[in-house]
Amino acid sequence: MIARLNAPDYDRWAAQIRATAGCRQPIHLRGKVEHYDGATGQLLHRYTTRHEPDGILRLPCKTRRASRCPSCAEVYRSDTYQLIRAGLVGGKGVPDSVTAHPTLFATLTAPSFGAVHTRRERNGKVLPCHARRDAEACPHGRVMSCTAKHSPDDPCLGEPLCPDCYDYTGSVLFNALAPLLWKRFADSLRRRLAKHGGLPLRELREHLTVSFAKVAEYQRRGVVHFHAVIRLDGPGGPTAPPPSWATTDALAQAVRHAAHVVSALVPALEGQPARLFKWGAQLDIRPITLNGDLTEQAVAGYIAKYATKAAECVGTLDRRINPLDNLDAYNLKDHPKRLIAECLRLATVEGLAELRLADWAHMLGFRGHFSTRSRRYSTTLGELRAARERHAREQEITTGRLPLFDEDTILVISEWTYAGKGYSVADQLIAAAITGTRVPDIPGGAR
Ligand SMILES: [Zn+2]
Ligand SMILES: [Zn+2]
Ligand SMILES: [Zn+2]
Repeated sequence: MIARLNAPDYDRWAAQIRATAGCRQPIHLRGKVEHYDGATGQLLHRYTTRHEPDGILRLPCKTRRASRCPSCAEVYRSDTYQLIRAGLVGGKGVPDSVTAHPTLFATLTAPSFGAVHTRRERNGKVLPCHARRDAEACPHGRVMSCTAKHSPDDPCLGEPLCPDCYDYTGSVLFNALAPLLWKRFADSLRRRLAKHGGLPLRELREHLTVSFAKVAEYQRRGVVHFHAVIRLDGPGGPTAPPPSWATTDALAQAVRHAAHVVSALVPALEGQPARLFKWGAQLDIRPITLNGDLTEQAVAGYIAKYATKAAECVGTLDRRINPLDNLDAYNLKDHPKRLIAECLRLATVEGLAELRLADWAHMLGFRGHFSTRSRRYSTTLGELRAARERHAREQEITTGRLPLFDEDTILVISEWTYAGKGYSVADQLIAAAITGTRVPDIPGGAR
């Protein structure tokens, strides 16, 4: 720390750290950017990292995972919030008239894979977890009843009443098939709406666009639920109104139908019968209104929050697991450890290879994206990012850091190589002081 603070280039180092806005694991790049006059070939401007502290440029890691880098995930969260909100009330290129389009917030759940400890509330009162008056013992000798009124942070929440009865195979396969189930749901929804409008499916897009933004949320038991904003637009997206027959009621009815009928089959494999997976019976469909129960801020906040979370709440790891590793060394709780072990076991079963369960064992089988939007939902994260970069670039030009060139006539040659990431322990402490961020519990990122 003393060496860093006394270094002659400390100010430039500190400026780099400030520019990463508290990133916990900045990416190190080595390289150069050269601007040439396209006509004469004359070198107009050169930037190289050779004169930077340690000969590198540090850039934010831009992860979405709050567990890996809270600062970068916060940027992703607020971008997601802005674009979900734009799809509900307009803005960022979406007209305000979108508020009049039929829009629902739907939650598609996973089925049960065995009784787990839960916190249940009714009218503000906490109810007993699984009170069964004459519950019988399971084949493993456990009585399948729990009369505890669990507190919200009770560590047993989400854990099975009997881990030996719990259907770990089903839980992991459901997560693996959830993206396919979602796709089939979206297809079925379009088919149902076409039927309602008396149109062949192939003509639907000339009349109606189904736009959606969805996010996956892990339940504590380790399965994913999907929350989705589903909106009906005219042809081409939110700028046109949907046809008059495409009402909120018609949408709700089609969502209910599609969620009920779709399924995904896992054929019989090595000593296991075939299994048919469907969404759970719990289906929540609510209208989004500007001043009712469920406001657009609440929905945008909800989706943005889960967009930066993965399966951490289940107690799994936030990085890939080597199938040859000894799981006991990770110090996991029994339930997530069994889910991961089941992923690793099923990964070796012939016929399931395409689910790539070993690669996604740390995600308990789910390999989809946490947060996705259909193309026409609103603006994109890329456009929001580009707008921010344009702004930063204009600032650099006005403060004289970048020369102002006519872009058409300039040849830009850049060359970058990856040179590591993270901080030494000393740098981490100084960086935390500069950016006002918390020092993570694990000291020092690897270089
Ligand atoms: Zn970061
Ligand atoms: Zn319980
Ligand atoms: Zn049992």
